[in-house]
Amino acid sequence: MGELDGKVALVTGGARGQGAAEARFFAREGATVVIADVLDEQGEQTAGELGCEYLHLDVTSEENWESVVDDIMNRHGRLDILMNNAGIFKPAQLLNTSTEMWNQTVAINQTGVFLGMRTAVKAMIKAGNGGSIINTSSIAGLEGGFGATAYGATKWAVTGMTKTVAKEVGKHGIRVNSIHPGAIVTDMIAHMVEGGKDEKMAARQPIKRLGTPEDIAEMALFLASDRSSYCTGQAFTVDGGIHG
Ligand code: NAD
Repeated sequence: MGELDGKVALVTGGARGQGAAEARFFAREGATVVIADVLDEQGEQTAGELGCEYLHLDVTSEENWESVVDDIMNRHGRLDILMNNAGIFKPAQLLNTSTEMWNQTVAINQTGVFLGMRTAVKAMIKAGNGGSIINTSSIAGLEGGFGATAYGATKWAVTGMTKTVAKEVGKHGIRVNSIHPGAIVTDMIAHMVEGGKDEKMAARQPIKRLGTPEDIAEMALFLASDRSSYCTGQAFTVDGGIHG
């Protein structure tokens, strides 16, 4: 018996990194998992390895969202878990943040989460089974993060949208929470951890190691499952103690 038996989950940005670990944990617990990404080749491969489905989804596209969620509803009749994980991180201080980079970061990290919640909530209400939406913010969505103006702005937006939407959709049995990872070793921060820099970063943390995608997937599984049935609108930090 798995914790997510009979449930259908959609994981954005699930081709690699934290999303792939989340898809793996959800599938292990019995969910039917749809991985969605713009990295089609890697997404197909990850889905094949994990026994998941793969669909192309650019989270900035309203049309893509409609067609992915329609496809899931037509084939499975329900959507129980939306893991809004897709994101980009292009570090730059204010004066080095081009308008183009700002707009791209907002489109993926912020508008992507908004479109995902709006599309999924409609489907969840229609299916009538409630649901759990998990939005990936960051510790940069809880405190000022040096040198990432656009990223920080979008991750604070995710923190705020989570709390706001949770208040609106609780009456439908839909819960909305955010996860706030610290430094998690994935392709996203590869440039920050090469050449021994990871050990220096870890030494500055209360827990003296950097995080793994599995550290985040454990929290995602808790929030996806009924074990967290009394939690909504909350920010869950998984960062080795950096933010405090
Ligand atoms: P990653 O770069 O390995 O994974 C991000 C995934 O998102 C990739 O598969 C990528 O193709 C996908 N993606 C990017 N743009 C997309 C789009 N327009 N549509 C659909 N998919 C898209 O990085 P990760 O560390 O696994 O990041 C996952 C989430 O965690 C992100 O939201 C990130 O901001 C957040 N986060 C990461 C860290 C960290 O240290 N790695 C820390 C805090 C928060």
